[in-house]
Amino acid sequence: MNAQQLSHRLTRVAYHVPKGAVVADIGSDHAYLPCYLVLNGVADKAVAGEVVKGPFESARKQVQQEGLTGQIDVRLASGLDAIQPEDGINAVTIAGMGGPLICSILEQGKERLDGVERLILQPNVHAKSIRDWAAANDWVITEEEILKENEKIYEILVLEKTLSPVLLTQQQLLMGPELMKQKTEIFREKWIRESEQWKNIVASMEATAQTMEIIGKKQELIEKIQLVEEVLQRENS
Ligand code: SAM
Repeated sequence: MNAQQLSHRLTRVAYHVPKGAVVADIGSDHAYLPCYLVLNGVADKAVAGEVVKGPFESARKQVQQEGLTGQIDVRLASGLDAIQPEDGINAVTIAGMGGPLICSILEQGKERLDGVERLILQPNVHAKSIRDWAAANDWVITEEEILKENEKIYEILVLEKTLSPVLLTQQQLLMGPELMKQKTEIFREKWIRESEQWKNIVASMEATAQTMEIIGKKQELIEKIQLVEEVLQRENS
């Protein structure tokens, strides 16, 4: 992978960045994504934010190598502290981290999201935490994608600010309102895998002492298995 040739996962993240965007990529590592966006004329300007020194240096080097120091600012900062109002950022990408970490970055930097019209988020796990955060903070999910790369399944969520929040069901929060409509083969594979794992956990819990905690956790998993199976068996969501 390099700035000209992104991985399939990052190519799909890039696809959701609107043309002419001023984009901030948070947790930018090698800055491949912002470099690709500027090189391909998608973004006019970008900020690459990175909290760890090593990846920050790699990002800085990459931007220099591509001759993009005039268009991409690489900043050593935690989360949305990397952006300032004068940057005029209108799209933010956060990819390759767990859902809860992405949420904590959004939650801690909420006041810096004024003027941001679109969030393109790619959690490696626990996408549900992002849907919960979106629902609690008046962001609506406009698009979702699910893809597979190197045997791993990834989800991409596109959020836009809304004045009329949409109430999502427990199933939509867990599995994704748009992904449930598409119900692709990869979606099915993901949820069959997950529910098999939950069933194994429930079975191993059956074999241990039935404390209140175990009973509660078992019940929680059984409910999730039922939610998932109902969606997989339904003709249309
Ligand atoms: N976004 C790239 C991608 O999707 O391939 C890199 C993903 S890499 C696994 C996650 C990066 O996020 C790491 O470089 C890590 O240092 C950075 N990171 C983690 N927490 C962060 C935070 N609070 N603010 C900025 N960067 C962060």
